[in-house]
Amino acid sequence: MRAFTYETLPMRVVFGPGCCPELAGEVDRLGMQRVLVLCTPQQEHGARGIADILGHRAVSVFAGARVHVPIATAEAAGTAARAAGVDGCVAVGGGSTIGLGKALALRDSLPMVAVPTTYAGSEMTPIWGVTEDGVKRTGRNRKVLPRAVVYDPDLTHSLPVGSSVTSGLNAVAHAVEALYAPDLSPIPALMAEDGVRALVGALERIVRTPTDPDARTDALRGSWLCGAALGSTTMSLHHKLCHVLGGTFDLPHADVHAVLLPHVVAFNSPAAPEAMAALRRALGVDLHPASALWQLANRLGAPTNLATVGMPTEGVADVVRQVLMEPYANPRPVDGPDLTALLTRALHGDGPRPDRGPGT
Ligand code: NAD
Repeated sequence: MRAFTYETLPMRVVFGPGCCPELAGEVDRLGMQRVLVLCTPQQEHGARGIADILGHRAVSVFAGARVHVPIATAEAAGTAARAAGVDGCVAVGGGSTIGLGKALALRDSLPMVAVPTTYAGSEMTPIWGVTEDGVKRTGRNRKVLPRAVVYDPDLTHSLPVGSSVTSGLNAVAHAVEALYAPDLSPIPALMAEDGVRALVGALERIVRTPTDPDARTDALRGSWLCGAALGSTTMSLHHKLCHVLGGTFDLPHADVHAVLLPHVVAFNSPAAPEAMAALRRALGVDLHPASALWQLANRLGAPTNLATVGMPTEGVADVVRQVLMEPYANPRPVDGPDLTALLTRALHGDGPRPDRGPGT
């Protein structure tokens, strides 16, 4: 076994179907007395229901969360928080809303309780991201970790099948990159492998029966494990590509993850044999994991083509330039021609080429 350093992240998790009413007790336990409830415009109705559960503790609702946390949104939420004199936030939603809560934790030192309603897994990571002038800046800071996370699978029944699939594949990507991260250690490895197993099985069932309560519960458990695995490890090429693509072209984040994952797995596989073995076990296949993930995406009806999710065909060179300017860690060295080939295949919806590499 290789040497490792592992530090547990401070995190309280309350999990269970119907556990949402426990949120009020969690807020009290943290000593928060006046909270701002954060959500997207689309989830305002549900967030107001959560505010009702919180009663007098919820003094205002900010329903302006947007994907990739535009700086103007973070500033508007900060102004709303100060105007309402709050001492904390409750973020009800997916990665966009929790990302806004992280921005407030970072900029305004407001503690957050998260109530996730997608499978993106942001609530488990100390990774924040803010977009300014078309560039998404990301960083790691423990200050942005939620003080508590209330996972109620019942809140995910309303998540459309398409978003369930793509946010689930976003979480699978967290686990994949954790499995070949330079700082992987035994506990995140277990979480990543079991998270992929739970999520992939659950997504197949959700596509068949979107309100299957056991499938929804398994998916959220898998998302927690995958997010926690990434929270304890370092992100690599896949996340770098998604951040650059999302920030530059304002693309739907989870869709970009879904399209790119098989291609990045194909590219990195020669340099990550142990991760590939873990993925084969988790996916329950003898196939190359890149091919298995490609087939899975097609079976689940996920997007497999960057052009259809909004990437301009002339955008490849700009993405390659940005990725190489500030690269993330990666098990396999990355260069311009390989990245261009990988992105071109993903742009046109061609399948991954795990045996010959992306450039052939
Ligand atoms: P999202 O939060 O943008 O939500 C997508 C849409 O689904 C929104 O309109 C939202 O209102 C709606 N929605 C969410 N839950 C719903 C539900 N239960 N029922 C009905 N509608 C619902 O999507 P996401 O994929 O969760 O998050 C994407 C964002 O999260 C990106 O900005 C990404 O960068 C970030 N992210 C960050 C991390 C991290 O560790 N920092 C991890 C994953 C994702």
